[in-house]
Amino acid sequence: MTATSPRTPAPVLVLVPGATGAPSDGGPGYRLADPTVPQLSVTDLVATRGDGVFETIGAFDGSPVNVGPHLARLARSAEMIDLPAPDQALLAEAVDAAIAAHESVAELSVRVMYTRGVEGTGTPTCWIHARVSDDWSPCRAGMRVAVLDRGLATTAAETSPWLLSGAKTLSYAVNMAAVREAKRRGAADVLFVSSDGYALEGPTSTLLVRRGDTFLTTPASAGVLAGTAVATLFAWLREQQGLATGEELMTIEDVKGSDGAWLLSSTRLAAPITHLDEHELPVDAELTARFERVLKGGI
Ligand code: PLP
Repeated sequence: MTATSPRTPAPVLVLVPGATGAPSDGGPGYRLADPTVPQLSVTDLVATRGDGVFETIGAFDGSPVNVGPHLARLARSAEMIDLPAPDQALLAEAVDAAIAAHESVAELSVRVMYTRGVEGTGTPTCWIHARVSDDWSPCRAGMRVAVLDRGLATTAAETSPWLLSGAKTLSYAVNMAAVREAKRRGAADVLFVSSDGYALEGPTSTLLVRRGDTFLTTPASAGVLAGTAVATLFAWLREQQGLATGEELMTIEDVKGSDGAWLLSSTRLAAPITHLDEHELPVDAELTARFERVLKGGI
């Protein structure tokens, strides 16, 4: 008898032609579309220049987490690249529609894409793609992380805003190249360090550091993305656990000397760092499991 591999539920695509106002053809603001056929023009500026912004929202047992903060951040990223403000209420409805149309699964990754659109039209293209999340269990158990120089100082966001530090743009080729370099070094992920020597963030994640009963992250002013997952955990740590949280510029030596560190994001959740380069860090599996429950929308 041959073993059959489990079937992966089909992804769902929702096109959102009304993302910046009523569609010119009078059609609905959003509609389900076939994800198996081509939908994007080859002259969309996201295809030719990576020119657009996005969000990835986690949905657990059908419930999306932090939709409001994600869409507010999408609007901030759009503003940073001079795109018109997206209609956040319509997008929230379209996110719900994508989740409702998807087969019920434990973990769904819902991408909201908002691009500069087809060259010459001046109209953004927007769509939502929902698919079963990758299996993040190995990372959630702990991962080796390589420290890589981002080549930018913590002042870059202020001195060179055109570098778009802190915007979630669709130009992620550099971030993905960094992850490949980490893999060549035998690590699973990256912690970027600034050219002036401070720990920043991962290519797709926020740094969380524990120092005793205080939990710290990198200040957004250092040119990192303001994470939704870290905001959720900080609120829980302060309000439910009575612990201190804060933003602080930390050196790599500070992180190595800490009582534990994680890379946080909305779909992978809390991935504890077991080794930063060759330096071993303490891992608290129980606390990580609690973080996971909180980040899934539980308490
Ligand atoms: N930093 C970067 C560069 C990211 O791409 C991401 C998420 O993809 C994060 C941080 C974590 O953000 P969030 O917690 O909102 O998922």
